[in-house]
Amino acid sequence: MRISGKALLAGIMGWPVSHSRSPRLHGYWLRHHSIDGAYLPLSVRPERFTSALEALADMGFRGVNITIPHKEAALAACHRVDALAERIGAVNMITMTGGEIAGSNTDGFGFIESLRHAVPGWRAASGPAAVIGAGGASRAVVAALLDDGSSEIRLVNRTLSRAQSLAADLGGPIEAVPWPALSEALAGAAVLVNTTSLGMQGHAPLEVDLGVLPSTALVTDLVYAPLETELLAAARARGNPAVGGLGMLLHQARPAFEAWFGVDPEVTEDLRAAVLTD
Ligand code: NAP
Repeated sequence: MRISGKALLAGIMGWPVSHSRSPRLHGYWLRHHSIDGAYLPLSVRPERFTSALEALADMGFRGVNITIPHKEAALAACHRVDALAERIGAVNMITMTGGEIAGSNTDGFGFIESLRHAVPGWRAASGPAAVIGAGGASRAVVAALLDDGSSEIRLVNRTLSRAQSLAADLGGPIEAVPWPALSEALAGAAVLVNTTSLGMQGHAPLEVDLGVLPSTALVTDLVYAPLETELLAAARARGNPAVGGLGMLLHQARPAFEAWFGVDPEVTEDLRAAVLTD
């Protein structure tokens, strides 16, 4: 790694941040492209978030990623927020130019790009979507599905009111579905997305009967630890194409890297291995 007095600086702000794979991800690309720069883990308490963000802009940082619990606070702390981040209600990527702090959200881009790389030519417009979960990640996924032409989204969530709020906030063809109707909501779906934390290491698995899901439906899980969740294994076992969550994590980082360091980097098998190495 080469760091001179002119090094380009970026990082990720979270609390805690030690679990983040983003320093390894951006660090790989910085080395791969021999860029004079660094990407740092920045552990920031919620009550210090805005002042820390402004200090980074004062110190000439190119920008930062934002992770839990700061994604909503970043909306208010930015001087300018693009229409997509405003619509989703969260910022995950910030650029700093001449002291101006501008926020956007690249999670939906990462979601769609990951599916297109795994299944070339895939389009959300190909049929109804069943989305499980209505938290922060779901908002980005649902907005991306709508923007890619989805004409029907069945949004299933344990807390129905949260799915109803998401549907009202984003507008469009979204139906909030109560949790007990989860399995029926899969009838005729072209894509099934798990955006809940169920299936993550240390969490309960997602229990869903895939019986009525067409065998052509694409099944995808945002969870990437483990790489192969029970949902993905069950989908593959019955012949459905299945895509894990790591690709979304890798692809959402591309627009940020390009904005800060000037190169649209590639997502490769070598990168996947580097990000997964402990
Ligand atoms: P969040 O805002 O806390 O939302 C969590 C969601 O999971 C809510 O819909 C919640 O339902 C549901 N849930 C949690 N425990 C449940 C249970 N026991 N039974 C049923 N539903 C349950 O979290 P998030 O930020 O959206 O993240 C969700 C997942 O996506 C995490 O696993 C995260 O790692 C993953 N993620 C992956 C990427 C990627 O790049 N691959 C990016 C972002 C997030 P309620 O509303 O009823 O609480």
